[in-house]
Amino acid sequence: MNEAGPQERRRSVAVDVGGVSVGGGAPIVVQSMTNTDTADVEATARQVEELARAGSEIVRITVDRDEAAAAVAHIKERLRRRGVDVPIVGDFHYIGHKLLAEHPACAEALDKYRINPGNVGFKEKKDRQFGAIVETAIKHGKPVRIGANWGSLDQELLTHLMDENARSAAPKDARAVTREAMVASALLSAERAEEIGLPRDRIILSAKVSAVQDLIAVYGDLARRSDYALHLGLTEAGMGSKGIVASSAAMGVLLQQGIGDTIRISLTPEPGGDRTLEVKVAQELLQTMGFRVFVPLVAACPGCGRTTSTTFQELARDIQSFIHASMPEWKRRYPGVEALNVAVMGCIVNGPGESKHADIGISLPGMGEQPAAPVFIDGKKAVTLRGPTVAADFKQLVIDYIERRYGGAARTAAE
Ligand code: SF4
Repeated sequence: MNEAGPQERRRSVAVDVGGVSVGGGAPIVVQSMTNTDTADVEATARQVEELARAGSEIVRITVDRDEAAAAVAHIKERLRRRGVDVPIVGDFHYIGHKLLAEHPACAEALDKYRINPGNVGFKEKKDRQFGAIVETAIKHGKPVRIGANWGSLDQELLTHLMDENARSAAPKDARAVTREAMVASALLSAERAEEIGLPRDRIILSAKVSAVQDLIAVYGDLARRSDYALHLGLTEAGMGSKGIVASSAAMGVLLQQGIGDTIRISLTPEPGGDRTLEVKVAQELLQTMGFRVFVPLVAACPGCGRTTSTTFQELARDIQSFIHASMPEWKRRYPGVEALNVAVMGCIVNGPGESKHADIGISLPGMGEQPAAPVFIDGKKAVTLRGPTVAADFKQLVIDYIERRYGGAARTAAE
């Protein structure tokens, strides 16, 4: 990273999740979660496949009852037959110990177990049930995510900390004590898991809350007090732009501080909406911050009173969807194409300048300008497009550029 980049990544223990490295300096991993009934093998396999093909590197599924646990190995098998080998995580609440004990094929098929210390069991059953899950993980050689959650925080621990706080000479406010309970719940559970025999390199921690400032504070604390790999996520982030903005704001700050080894954007989809949006947002967050490259980025100006028509918006949208649709094939044919930068600009004010910074960029004519669209390639003006075929011509120039730069001829020259 250059001087203006993020702070050095926090050192964390590397965890192998079904062949994907999380932590230990590995690239930050994108993950997602299905919203199908896991007992429906076909629907779940299909959604896992969609998420994986969209770029999710780990996918979590709910395992909430016998029928769901019984379906897990079949889901894995169906995915394997379709050539999808994305690691699958089982999300357990309340009866995870029972489901894992009674469905050994599920315990074996999953690549990681996620347990919530706030609802793994209550009172005297808590330690026993937590221990049973950890022992199953040890037996099958699986990692575990210990995921505390604001909405299901360990109430006994919270009450204990609240009482202690009330007795202290300088009591903190209730929110600060709740944040401490989140951090303590995750750390104490991890300590207990290690005492039972789960190696440190099979533990990932998370402590998800729904408010941006709380998330930043909680993860800052977790990062300072441990070296476990951390899974970042703002829980109940919400719908649409609110969910995207809140998740990006919270995680952007933490990632910039070097905190976070894997991320999930918990978006509420529109009814019937596309579940893969959460993968796209996670990728764009990591790419725009300079951590990873997934797909060519299209820089476009917002447009203003100087744009004469919607041509440039349409062109920006067309190019973007064209790139997304072409990526599965381009990835195979053009290694490195993910790093391509394209610019589509609305007028002469910033158009030529921004286009020169991109690998290939077009500056469309604004109000009162000559009806000509100069195209810049590798910082130099290459050609000027005119007439009704500007969009199609520019698309062809993008294809030619990709072929030249990332295609077979480019590879042969580099060898
Ligand atoms: S580049 Fe031109 S059209 Fe685009 S926002 Fe700037 S001034 Fe407006």
